[in-house]
Formats: sequence, C-alpha cells, structure tokens
Amino acid sequence: MKLNVERIEEDPRPQELGGWAHAAAADALDGAVQSLEGEITLRRADESVFVEGEVHAIVHRACDRCGSQVICTIGGEMDLAYVPANPGGETSREVFGGDMDVGFYAEGSLELGDVLREHFALTTPDRLACDLAAVSVAPGAKCQATLLAKESEEKPVDPRFAALKGLKLD
Ligand SMILES: [Zn+2]
Repeated sequence: MKLNVERIEEDPRPQELGGWAHAAAADALDGAVQSLEGEITLRRADESVFVEGEVHAIVHRACDRCGSQVICTIGGEMDLAYVPANPGGETSREVFGGDMDVGFYAEGSLELGDVLREHFALTTPDRLACDLAAVSVAPGAKCQATLLAKESEEKPVDPRFAALKGLKLD
C-alpha cells in the first residue's frame, strides 16, 4: 500500500494491518500466513517517516533443516525510519541513532508493504528450522531431521565399529 508521505500526520496514527500486510508477510516469510497480529503507528517529522509498534506473524512453511511443514511465530518490535532517497547527495543516515534501521523512500511515497517486508527480514532467523523455540512441527507432520539422525545412529559406519558396539552393549 503506497502512502503519500506529505499526507502522513505528524502525531502518531495507527495503521491497520489489512490485506496489503498479509501479502507482504507471505512474501517475506515464504509461507502461508495464518495470522498477523500487532499494531503499528506512523508519524512524520519533516521528510522523515517513523514506523513504530510490534507485529507478529504465524506462518506455515517448510523447515530450512528438514523440509517438514512447520509453524513459525516471527516478528517483534518495530522501530524503523524512512528518509527520502537522495542519489548522489549526502544521506541523512547520520541524523539517526546507530541502532535505528533507516530506509529510503522515493518520489514522495512510502510503500508500506516494503516496510513490513523489511521488518520480517530483520526479525527472521537466517535459518528457520524446527529446532528453534519459535518454530514447531505442524500437526501430522514429522520432523525429518530427527528421523535422519536416528537412522544414522542405527546404521553402523563401518563393520568394525559394529563389533565394538556389540561389545559395549553386552
Ligand atoms: Zn525441521
């Protein structure tokens, strides 16, 4: 959803997480978004736009480790700032604190879908796998990683080790 930056109010205004937000989350998280919760507010100071709040998504997708269907809860607090893109000129990045993530908008409009995509890019672990606390294996699905690990335990690497294993067990 494109917003005309000039029309963004200076005092914080809540922004509904509508269809645009679900589409952006599905795109960023590469899965089926079951729910999207939280709230964001937008405010403007001169040409800078601040997006603050907290957004979580529950998404069904394939595990990066074993490929099983997993349910992930992704997201967190949001504290983003956007300034006009100014190619060739000085960036206003220095104006903001070191911890704040600063993005750019072009032609006087801010694409809120991009803002949410950036939020999820910042809050998604590099490897979204079933061994993370925020991830659980979907009902009916089995964690393939656990099965594979078991198989390799049972399968002796070398017949000589099998003999040793037998000794240990007795
Ligand atoms: Zn997995």
